[in-house]
Amino acid sequence: MTIMEDSILSTTGLCYSYQSGPFALRDVTLEISRGRKIAFLGPNGAGKSTLFLHFNGILRPKAGEVRYDGAPLKYDQGSLAALRQDVAIVLQNPDDQIFSSTVEEDVAFGPMNLDLPREEVEERVAEALALTGMSELRERPTQQLSFGQRKRVAIAGALAMRPKVLVMDEPTAGLDGHMVGEIMELTDKLNGQGMTIVISTHDVDMAYSWADSVHVLNRGRLVFSGTPEGFFNCPREVNAVKLVQPTMYEVNRLVMASLNLPEHPHPKTSSELLAKMSRCSPGRLFVQQNGSRSEGVPKHATAGIYGPMHRAAAATGELNVEYSYNGLEGCLGEVMLGRDALLVLDPGLKGQVMKRLDRLAKVFGRQIEVLWV
Ligand code: ADP
Repeated sequence: MTIMEDSILSTTGLCYSYQSGPFALRDVTLEISRGRKIAFLGPNGAGKSTLFLHFNGILRPKAGEVRYDGAPLKYDQGSLAALRQDVAIVLQNPDDQIFSSTVEEDVAFGPMNLDLPREEVEERVAEALALTGMSELRERPTQQLSFGQRKRVAIAGALAMRPKVLVMDEPTAGLDGHMVGEIMELTDKLNGQGMTIVISTHDVDMAYSWADSVHVLNRGRLVFSGTPEGFFNCPREVNAVKLVQPTMYEVNRLVMASLNLPEHPHPKTSSELLAKMSRCSPGRLFVQQNGSRSEGVPKHATAGIYGPMHRAAAATGELNVEYSYNGLEGCLGEVMLGRDALLVLDPGLKGQVMKRLDRLAKVFGRQIEVLWV
């Protein structure tokens, strides 16, 4: 397979300037790989939002071109409408995106414009609200929502289009830790269904562990495309774009230097650091997809939740868990300490679990016994 075949969106020599301003994008050539999780990094004003607005044709290049599925974008109304079904954008500020008076009206806006049958619009709205945890607030006036809830509505509106590519400009900015966890979990779930996820962020820790690949912009130019490790391996370039090394990158560097061990492979999470360092044999990972503790799961197993379905049960105490958020990472850490762990999993997230286990096996040589219960 050639690289071109594998890219869902690409730009060639893309230049853009706002009226009478300097170039906001200069000669940007890049490819967004299909089905991957991609993070854009770069200081404020680097051109990330401007680039994102080119991905669904809101802005039109002054020079160069944007391609979707191998074909150059066309800017007539019909072509743009078709493109926007496939490439949905969530703007940084939800207030730039929410116009309707209630949550459900706002989420229904996109699908209504597709002239879909009423039942399908209803189905899409219900699905998008469920995915973003907004079902109970569907009749709430949008004026009465918190910032985090408005952000969820904006994401739900994008998901109601059932896009192939979801582009989110700083999706976690201004949100509390739990909501950041929920949004990143949602991206994992959507990505598990084959959706390409593109985000911009200043959160280097998140980008390091989350992204399959990163693109870095500075002053309108693309200065790096590749793996997160590849980028953070270059302290000078990281510094040039006003970022810092991810905490786990630094911890690994310093700990390995103190032990006189190689920096490679680079752990991206605490469980991977443990996988690299711990000498004990891993515990077992029990995985279950229903809410109650099955027979056969040892009582001492530490439990974690991955996916929103069972979180409500955990909050009411029906389900006793140690990790209500970031449960996959919590459980993998326990397993690497030689303890048994129980992961309570939403159905759509199995692929992401397999991906993490595969990395532990291939990169860190740690095979974990998994029992599906
Ligand atoms: P980022 O998303 O990386 O912070 P932007 O794409 O928002 O960067 O901005 C890139 C450049 O374009 C900056 O110099 C910014 O000031 C300018 N810019 C962004 N939006 C507008 C606009 N609507 N009008 C004029 N200039 C703009």
